Amino acid sequence: MMLANAGIEQRLVEIRQRIKQAVERSKRDPSTIRLLAVSKTQPVSGIEAAYQAGQRAFAENRVQEWREKAPGLPKNCQWHLVGRLQTNKVKYLDQTIAMIHSLDRFSLLKTLNEQGERRGTIWTTLVQVNIARDPAKAGLMPEEVPDFLTSVGECPYVQVQGLMTIGAMGVSLKETQGFFRQLRGLRDTLQSRKWPGVDLRELSMGMSQDFELAIEEGATLVRVGRQIFGERG
Ligand SMILES: *Cc1c(COP(=O)(O)O)cnc(C)c1O
Repeated sequence: MMLANAGIEQRLVEIRQRIKQAVERSKRDPSTIRLLAVSKTQPVSGIEAAYQAGQRAFAENRVQEWREKAPGLPKNCQWHLVGRLQTNKVKYLDQTIAMIHSLDRFSLLKTLNEQGERRGTIWTTLVQVNIARDPAKAGLMPEEVPDFLTSVGECPYVQVQGLMTIGAMGVSLKETQGFFRQLRGLRDTLQSRKWPGVDLRELSMGMSQDFELAIEEGATLVRVGRQIFGERG
């Protein structure tokens, strides 16, 4: 275990440095960009190593896995949920989930609102957009987002703080840049409209292979897994 985790601190230092450089290149305010360590499939010991190196924000993609790992970790870890969320798993979530990045359909919106009302909890979410129109990927089509946000306005226990996307697989960095730019453009267009419970300040985009590009295109949350923890087993 010690051996497997030994590189995590060093890799985090490198990632932070690369983020800093991307922020400088794009002349952005560094306080507007957050690194999420995507800890899915990683053992608690690996997450602890990242925590020791100062990382506090982590992302998991399966509710079950989060439920197994989170109790063994410090209480001030901040948890983000990035994977497809089944409606029957919402009941297992609690206020230690800082943000749900994968709000991608009406049924999930409805379930979150109902559970939120029952417990007096307001969920912080991002709307997942399938900006690449990749049939293999989840997310709303860009043209579906305005109607969806209108529905969010009718769900007082759900707040939307921005948009999230997962880049298409096997495309060039140039194409990925185009997708990031489109997501930002969609956000900018929608921001001029006002819906209750909607404030599109966050853009969750960019992973291990393209987080610097994402920052240059306006990402506020980058989700990095393998570059921190190493390849997933
Ligand atoms: C796994 C995952 C990531 C991290 O991917 P890496 O390539 O390991 O950086 C980011 N976002 C989502 C939604 C993921 O499922």
